Amino acid sequence: MNGDTNRSDKDVHATEINGHPLRPESLMMGYGYRPDWSQGAVKCPIFQTSTFVFNSAEEGKAFFELAYGLRKAEPKEEMGLIYSRLNNPDLEILEDRLKLWDGAEAAGVFSSGMSAISTTLLAFLSPGDLILHSEPVYGGVDFLLKQILPRFGIRPVAFPAGDGAPAALEKLLLNREIRGKTAMIYIETPANPTNALVDIAACAALADQYRSPNRRILIAVDNTFLGPLWQHPLKHGADLVLYSATKYIGGHSDLIAGVCLGSTELMGKVKLMRTILGTMASPWCGWLLLRSLETLKLRMTSQMKNARYVANYLADHPKVERVYYLGHLTAEDPQHAVYRKQCLSPGGMIAFDIVGGEAEAFRFLNHLQIFRLAVSLGGTESLAEHPAAMTHSDVDPEERIEMGITEQMVRLSIGVEHPEDLIADLEQALAAV
Ligand SMILES: *Cc1c(COP(=O)(O)O)cnc(C)c1O
Repeated sequence: MNGDTNRSDKDVHATEINGHPLRPESLMMGYGYRPDWSQGAVKCPIFQTSTFVFNSAEEGKAFFELAYGLRKAEPKEEMGLIYSRLNNPDLEILEDRLKLWDGAEAAGVFSSGMSAISTTLLAFLSPGDLILHSEPVYGGVDFLLKQILPRFGIRPVAFPAGDGAPAALEKLLLNREIRGKTAMIYIETPANPTNALVDIAACAALADQYRSPNRRILIAVDNTFLGPLWQHPLKHGADLVLYSATKYIGGHSDLIAGVCLGSTELMGKVKLMRTILGTMASPWCGWLLLRSLETLKLRMTSQMKNARYVANYLADHPKVERVYYLGHLTAEDPQHAVYRKQCLSPGGMIAFDIVGGEAEAFRFLNHLQIFRLAVSLGGTESLAEHPAAMTHSDVDPEERIEMGITEQMVRLSIGVEHPEDLIADLEQALAAV
C-alpha cells in the first residue's frame, strides 16, 4: 500500500497546522489516508479482499506475533495487514477517524451495535461477575443482560436512570457481596425513550471509591443517542464508549454497524475478542461509514435545530400532554445540572404523551405523511414509533409504566427536512386525532 513519493513523509495523522488544532469535522475527509497509496484517488477505495499478501515469510510471522500479542511491538513497529477478520484498511482508517470525536486512544468497528456491545461485555466479564446497569436499556441489551449472560454465570443488577441513579448505584455498591463481584457498570444515557439522564462522572467516582484493591470496575457508556457530537463519556471518567453506528454515525438508515472506543490497553482485549468471534464490520460497510462521517456534524446539527422547533411546537399543542426533550429541562429540574455537565446539545430525539391512550397515539401515527412509521433513529429522514407497542413491547408492562413508558407515548427521531414541513405534518396528524 505504501508508495514512495515526496509526499510520503507528510504525516497522515496530523491534527494541527502550526500549533492550530484542527476539529474533527475538518479531518473527516482526509485523516489517516494518503491518495498516493491508491493511484491518487481522493477517496479511500473499498478494499474488498479477505486476505493480504505478505512480502516475506518473516514479515508474516512478525505480523502474527503482534496480532496475537505474542511479543511487544518494537518502537515504531506497526502490525501489518493480515486478513479482514483481523484488520482491513477501510476499517483502520474509519477507526482512526472515529477516535477523534470521542478523544479516544483506540477504536473498533463492528457488524452491529449489538455485536459491539456483546463482544465488549464478553471481553471483560467472567463467570461469577456482576454487571450493574442503568435501566431502561436498549431492548437487545436488556435481553443480552437478563437472558443470555446469566447462562454464562454473569448476573445483571439494575438501577434506575434519572436523578436517583448515583444514589441507587451507591446503595448497591455498599453491599459487600455486590461490591466484590462487580466487574462493570453499564450506563445508557440519555435513556430511551424518556431521555432520563445518568450522571457519568458520579458513577465513575463511585466505581473508583468502591473498587477492590486488585480489580477496577469498568464504566461502559452506550452513547448512541447524543454521541459522538453532543456527549463525550471518556471525558467524564468512562472507560469504554459504545455505539450503534446504525443510528447517527451511519445516519442514512442504510446500514447496520457498531463501535467501541477506549484506551489502547482495553481495546486490545476488545479487538482480540472481535477477531475470535468474527464480529467485525465488512469493508463495504466501513467505506459507507467513512462517507457518512464527512457529513456527521452537518446532519446532527441540522437534526438538533429541527428538534428544537418540533419540541417547542408540541409543547404548545392542546392534544399533547407532556414533551420529553432535553432542551426543555428547566434550572429547577435536578437533571438540568447533569445535562449542563455532560451534554453539549439536546440532540434530535423527542418523546411526547398524546392526550388519550393507544388509540389516539395510533391514529396520530397512521396519519403521518413525512415522518415514516418505523423504529430506529438518527437517520436523515424523520421517524415516529410507539415505544409501548414496538421498541419496548418486550419490557414487563408494570416495569414499563415505572419507566414512564405509557400507552400515550410517541417517540420521534428528527431528520434533516425543513422544520416547517415537519410541523405541517405533525399538525395535520394531530388534527386527525
Ligand atoms: C439501536 C441501538 C442499539 C443496537 O444497535 P444495532 O446496530 O441495532 O445492533 C444499542 N443501543 C442503542 C441505544 C440503540 O439505539
